Amino acid sequence: MTRTRILVAAALAASLALAGCGKEGAPGDEQASGYQPTVAQNVQVPGSQTFAAMQQRGRVSIGVKDDQPGLGFNDATTGEFSGFDIDTAKMVAGGLGFSPDKIDFKVYPSTAREDAISRGDVDYYIGTYSITDKRKQQIGFAGPYYVTGQSLLVRADDNSITGKDTLKGKKVCSVTGSTPIQRIKDEKLTDQPIEFQKYSQCVDQLRAGQVDAVTTDEAILKGFAAQAPDQLKIVGQPFPTPDTEKYGIGVKKDDAALRNKIDDLLEASAQDGTWQKIYDGTLGKSGTQASPPKVERY
Ligand code: GLU
Repeated sequence: MTRTRILVAAALAASLALAGCGKEGAPGDEQASGYQPTVAQNVQVPGSQTFAAMQQRGRVSIGVKDDQPGLGFNDATTGEFSGFDIDTAKMVAGGLGFSPDKIDFKVYPSTAREDAISRGDVDYYIGTYSITDKRKQQIGFAGPYYVTGQSLLVRADDNSITGKDTLKGKKVCSVTGSTPIQRIKDEKLTDQPIEFQKYSQCVDQLRAGQVDAVTTDEAILKGFAAQAPDQLKIVGQPFPTPDTEKYGIGVKKDDAALRNKIDDLLEASAQDGTWQKIYDGTLGKSGTQASPPKVERY
């Protein structure tokens, strides 16, 4: 090894050690899951303009998140994306005939998703993206491929917040354009809602004592809690129910052919055990069991 390579290796080892300071095997330990998608041959999706464009380009462009451990996370040191959403994105790409080296991941925050999809900046979007009637007016959704509910993340030493009805007078942080920020406003759960573009910004504010709670999907909060189990904890029950947030894959509204094809791929992955394998290698590392939800075609 040359000196530079040794230094790089040492830096990498140090950063891996840092990244691994959460609980052993928790989703906060961002290592690739090792999942290798099956790449289909001679795929056809008749009537899909998005698929025709992908084939012509020879690459697939997928919208994702990069700051949500266990779901969609980018390791700044290695440049690798990892998580349940990322492996699901790779599974779908494989089913459409694209190997992982043909994927371009593009990062968009919650508030920019509908536009990125409608404009054609991404072929599809996978990133804790809840299926809602309002969003369906602008885009289409394959799925769901996962369900979760809204929850609360607080500092471990804070015993004043115990659930959604204890937020009065508290600063509660969430993300612009997300369903959780909308819900705390609609239900007036706090008079001090605070918004950022990314959940990691909310979590930084929480750790710095600038806000009192972060609210979003429990699946997302679990990943952050696992990174700092001594400093952060999840409190209360998922609301309004544990399965209100149904994660879908966003596609162009008029591309029903691609939506149906992705639904086929999700159903196949649920049946042949691929979904479970992806879950176990990512979110499931926290020890929580889950099974694939039923795809809701429309
Ligand atoms: N699932 C919720 C949503 O789609 C919250 C997570 C997010 O912002 O991505 O709005």
